[in-house]
This record gives sequence, C-alpha cells and structure tokens, in this order.
Amino acid sequence: MIQTCVLHRVSLPLKLPMHTAHGHVREKQAILVQLIDADGIEGWAECVALAEPTYTEECTDTAWVVLTRHLIPRFARWLRQAPQPIHPSRAGEAFDDVRGHLMSRAAVEMAVWDWYAARTGQPLVDLLGGGRDRVEVGATLGMSDSLDLLAEAADAMVEQGFRRVKLKIAPGRDHAPIQAIRTRHPHLAMAADANGSYRPEDLRGLRELDGYNLQFIEQPLPEDDWFDLAELQADLQTPICLDESIRSERELRLAARLGAARVLNVKPGRLGGFGPVLRALRAAEQAGMAAWVGGMYETGIGRVHGLITAALPQMRYATDLGPSHRYFEQDLLKEPIGFAEPGMIEVPRCAGLAERVDRAAVHRFTTATWRADLTSF
Ligand SMILES: [Mg+2]
Repeated sequence: MIQTCVLHRVSLPLKLPMHTAHGHVREKQAILVQLIDADGIEGWAECVALAEPTYTEECTDTAWVVLTRHLIPRFARWLRQAPQPIHPSRAGEAFDDVRGHLMSRAAVEMAVWDWYAARTGQPLVDLLGGGRDRVEVGATLGMSDSLDLLAEAADAMVEQGFRRVKLKIAPGRDHAPIQAIRTRHPHLAMAADANGSYRPEDLRGLRELDGYNLQFIEQPLPEDDWFDLAELQADLQTPICLDESIRSERELRLAARLGAARVLNVKPGRLGGFGPVLRALRAAEQAGMAAWVGGMYETGIGRVHGLITAALPQMRYATDLGPSHRYFEQDLLKEPIGFAEPGMIEVPRCAGLAERVDRAAVHRFTTATWRADLTSF
C-alpha cells in the first residue's frame, strides 16, 4: 500500500534561455512527486507546469496549491477504497470530480504507474505497450533577432545529429527564419511552432510557410479557436499539429471531426497522465492523425517518462525531448540522458525511476518540500 507522498519543488537553471511566443524561460521549475509504499518501494514523476501560466492556466505555484490541498487528499482517500491490488490505469479516477489542473493530476497518476513498475519489477515502457528500443530526437530552436545566429544554431543541431529542427515562430518572425534554415538544409526534417500566437487577420506570413515542406505547423492559432484552425487547415498543404488545444480525447475527436489538425503533439502532462495518453492515441489512430511527443523542458525525471511515451508504436515523428546536456549542467538522474548514436536516444527500460534518481541533485535544487502521511486523510 502506498503510504507516503513527498513533493519536491525544484528549480534548475537552463543552460540556454529559450525565447518563445510565450516569453523567455530561464530556469526549469518543477514539482517532483515521490510516492513511497509500506515496503519502501517508490514511484516518481514530474509535474511539468511552467513557472508562468503561459502554456496553459497551470503554473508551478497553482500546481503546488492544487496538489497539496486538493489532489493528494483525494488520492489518499481513493487509495483506501480502491480495489486491491491497485492498478495504475485507475489512478486517474481519484480526480474524477476535479476540473482542469491536468499537469498536476498527471504527476500523481504517472507516479502511480512508476511505482507499479517498481512494485512488479516490470519496465514501465512494457507496461504501457512498449515499442521501439531507440527514439529519434529533434531539436527546438527559440526565436532569435539574428538570422545568421539562428542559421548557425540550426547548423550545430544538424551537426550533432538531431533528426529534425523545430523553430519557434510568431507573426512577423516566420517566413524569413524558416527560409534561412531551409536554404542551407534543403532535405532537413523541419517544423514550426507558433504557440498560438497568430490571429486570423495576420496569417499571411504563416501561409507562406506552406512552400517549405515542413513536417507540420504547430498550434498556429489560440487553443480554443477551433473554426479558424479548421479553415486554416483546409487552406494549407502542411499539416497543422495541435499542442495546447488538445487536453483530452474529446478535444482530439473534435479536432479530427472539424478537420482542424492532422497531427497530435502528445505530452503526458497536458493530457493528464499515461492512461489518458493511451486513450488519446487510440482516438488519434482511429481519426488517422499522426502523433509524436513534445517537451516541456523537463528535468531528467519527466524526460524519462516522455521518452518512454515516445517509444510507443503509434508515434510517427521525432520527439522534442533531447539529451540532458542540451538543457542542464546537472540533471536529476545518476546517469544523464545522452545520445546512443547521433540523434537517437535509447528508451529507458527501468522498472520505475527510483533507481535512477540522483537524490543529492534533487536535494541541491530543492526550494520547498512537503510530506504527507496518506493514511492520515
Ligand atoms: Mg508546442
């Protein structure tokens, strides 16, 4: 029986600040969920909400409040009456009456999966449906004021072996940067991510991207602008990929029915955990939508879970989840994530993360800790 929950709020400096349509990200804040059962077996997961509520409404501060006051108490009560032995596919039921807060909910749900893998001695990747041994990795480049610097950054990524370059774009900062890279790399797999920054009246530059053979254009319009997304997709050859728009299997089916997208960016945090990911992937397959795994500048803990998701057989494109050294001087894993060969990462086959977590590093970057005896709720 899971008895204890510890939350570690951590803050890790990013090696390179990332400039996106949402602003600058200079450090990775995260909340780590650690579950411990009566035998000392642990489950770990990361709440990937950003420090500012610019990706969805959630941010680290709200996640902390929601986890400590609302989710963990519900989870503790659910644990007491859940059918034994507990199976992680049901853990999300603990939050059935909660609206939103999907990244916070996901962190608990995924920690239960992680614990279950350790408890049963099975690699988490096998529990979820397995797939490939290695995954292809792409690099995301933030916006830059200098096209030369941007093109050089893309050159460096290609040199290091990254299998795709995805560029952050915004109105007025789209056509020229994409052209600058495409001219130098005619055959490179490329994509663009607008983070919802366009409005229906300023799509001219975006439409010009149609000639650059991009894998997809990600989240061109705001997350709830369904009709304009559908109109835009009807006009574009390039597939639209949705990220912020899709938080549930229902929204995925809405997107497919409207013709608002052809590609799904899968993030276990945004969807509410591994169980919802598996349901969304089934729906995407039925709708003929391609899928791949995006990133949230995760620490190694969230990164391992993302890479395991990227190993699932339904994934068509390279993941954004790169090696640790691209983001952090010091990650939270005993062995940081690295390339097995240029552009490819070996899928972690650990039975839970506990064996891989570098406790001293977690301690070093912790800014707050919260511990709860789950039998006391
Ligand atoms: Mg995105």
